[in-house]
Amino acid sequence: MEDKKILIIEDEKPIADILKYSLEKEGFQVQCAYTGSEGFSCACREPFSLVLLDWMLPDISGVDVCRMLTEQYRIPIIMLTARGTVEDKLYGLESGADDYITKPFDLREVVARVRTILRRFDKAQGTVEDEKLICGHLTIIEREHSVYRDGALLNLTPKEYELLICFLKHPRQVFTRTALLDQIWGYDFAGDTRTVDIHVQRIRKKAGLEDSLVTVFGVGYKYVP
Ligand code: CA
Repeated sequence: MEDKKILIIEDEKPIADILKYSLEKEGFQVQCAYTGSEGFSCACREPFSLVLLDWMLPDISGVDVCRMLTEQYRIPIIMLTARGTVEDKLYGLESGADDYITKPFDLREVVARVRTILRRFDKAQGTVEDEKLICGHLTIIEREHSVYRDGALLNLTPKEYELLICFLKHPRQVFTRTALLDQIWGYDFAGDTRTVDIHVQRIRKKAGLEDSLVTVFGVGYKYVP
């Protein structure tokens, strides 16, 4: 749970503070925003695992912030509000919120709900991302960033992993060294195309792709399953 980051969007500072305190005590990382627009730009700037969102904000209403967020991101949202009528609750959930907590709330309840929603969300993500990509004797589980060769986990560096995935996902496509350098290392990388050659040699050996990760002379490389 320690790596989970939570964004609190709440204009009443004492409430934001006590929520932050309670969640940090539980091992979460917490950031507070005090207006709807500030909260929205925080969420756009960096990824959060969950948003606690107040309904009544001074600029944009919480419901609108919720819509804006769910239109762009897959992020669980718990709405906080002083209102508690059934209609409001439905309205809140229709806006894309995953749960709804009425003020005044019990802090233990908030923490429990946060955990429940995160668990539910992780599970839902898992069913999508647990999918395996199987290429011959290789099995890729992207969620784990792992590649297994005949059941044995390969010891790959992050760049080797990215490079291998790039080939496996695009069978028969020829990649130039420069394209790979740009794609995997980024335009700012100071190294040269020899870096690509070295990495290709390594993944050929580690993944047993000596015959299928082929050199296209004068051009680059391609993966032929
Ligand atoms: Ca408020």
